[in-house]
Amino acid sequence: MPTRFFNTYSRELEEFHPLDPAGKRVKLYTCGPTVYNFAHIGNFRAYVFEDLLQRHLEARGFDVERVMNLTDVDDKTIKGCRQLGVRLAEFTKKFKDAFFEDIGTLRIKRAKDFPAATDYVAQMIEMIRVLEKKGIAYQAEDKSLYFRLSKFPEYGKLAHLNLDELRPGVRVQSDEYEKENIGDFALWKAWDENDGDVKWDSPWGPGRPGWHIECSAMATALLGPEIDIHCGGVDNIFPHHEAEIAQSECVTGKKFVRYWMHCAHLMVEGQKMSKSAGNFYTLRDLLEKGWTGREIRYALITVNYRLPLNFTFDGLSAARSALQRIDEWTERLKLHAGLQIPISEYFSTTLAGMNPKEATSYLLSKYKVVSGSELRKDTDGILAYGERFFDALDDDLNISGALSHLFNLVRETNRALDAGTLTDGQAVIALHVRNQIDSILGLSPDIRNIPAAVLALVEQRQVARANKQWAESDRLRDAVAELGWVVKDTKEGPKLTPKD
Ligand SMILES: [Zn+2]
Repeated sequence: MPTRFFNTYSRELEEFHPLDPAGKRVKLYTCGPTVYNFAHIGNFRAYVFEDLLQRHLEARGFDVERVMNLTDVDDKTIKGCRQLGVRLAEFTKKFKDAFFEDIGTLRIKRAKDFPAATDYVAQMIEMIRVLEKKGIAYQAEDKSLYFRLSKFPEYGKLAHLNLDELRPGVRVQSDEYEKENIGDFALWKAWDENDGDVKWDSPWGPGRPGWHIECSAMATALLGPEIDIHCGGVDNIFPHHEAEIAQSECVTGKKFVRYWMHCAHLMVEGQKMSKSAGNFYTLRDLLEKGWTGREIRYALITVNYRLPLNFTFDGLSAARSALQRIDEWTERLKLHAGLQIPISEYFSTTLAGMNPKEATSYLLSKYKVVSGSELRKDTDGILAYGERFFDALDDDLNISGALSHLFNLVRETNRALDAGTLTDGQAVIALHVRNQIDSILGLSPDIRNIPAAVLALVEQRQVARANKQWAESDRLRDAVAELGWVVKDTKEGPKLTPKD
């Protein structure tokens, strides 16, 4: 089945084919954070959805070249630094650093580039000059430059607005405005005293770029005039993305974006998230309450992106249980396979780069579990669960459908383990399918900070325990302790904590 995505522009499911003639390279632009505060979970819903998109495209063999901008100059950042009486760069640095820490916590893959708007002001000025030459940008009495909407009849197509009914005519200076205020939007904002020391020189006098031209300039500078996929939240559609299309297409004469993908809103306990309602959460708020990055990631990723997500604490508890179930199942499979496969093997790039058949032969030759003929007989059914998982994601990232295949695999193999009918080969292949799925979900327990030597000893100890070699198990526990770690046996398997 081909990969299909819902294109906001056409409002239809479309087969995905990148512009690259070789069909391999995908140019992806995702609107990043405005670094004037800590990003909230609504923002992270969009970033996690974009991460799912990138990982699935990579699983399907595409080379994803992703750019995510940082808006470090706009109405909000200027207001923030002025309130604190600090320089803009100092003010935004704190939130840039926090953003990178947060995406690490949520296991979001790094983009190829994270351009900051303040590093691309020259490119923004250049685009505005081109627009001015074409008679599309004009300088108003207030010295700011505006985009003349009457020159771009396509404006409103992405948001499916009827411009005639909205009677444009006024000018809007603010970065964000409602559909009722539709009108010529600001490209360059002339300096005024509210901007303090935030200003750049330009052919039109001192000032600063509007928010929309920032994304057009950074996307074009780093990805070229034509992008395959552009993502954001639904609240970016108007006016931000509408303005990006107008600016970019008027400058380059090319179709700016081929597939527009937007994720729906996030609600908290059924309410719109707002500071005044007391239901406003940053990622940090949730970590403080004892939830982990992978639990929050799971809660954000598991609702199909085009559906509104009702974020609740019950939902977080459900995420915790689901992850425990996957962890317990993984441990059972590892014990059953009776293999001394180091944990690192499951995260190895060797396996990640193989298709299921190659990986199967690799694992079986390396660990000599069953013969080839036996394998073909009993592992095809298991591999099929993995194939169905990825097929579901081909259908506009249908993650809930994909997860149902994962949990069917968990149930079926657990049942076979209970009945004593799961073969060693099936256990190895189920683990392999699990790891392929994990390359999408990114849900493995956090082992990043544990030394490989400790992990290896814990794995050996698990094998000893499975074989009821208690003296050996105790010896290995002491060896782990000598390296500064305490291993505790829990229902979900061994838990490691650093020794005090
Ligand atoms: Zn943007």
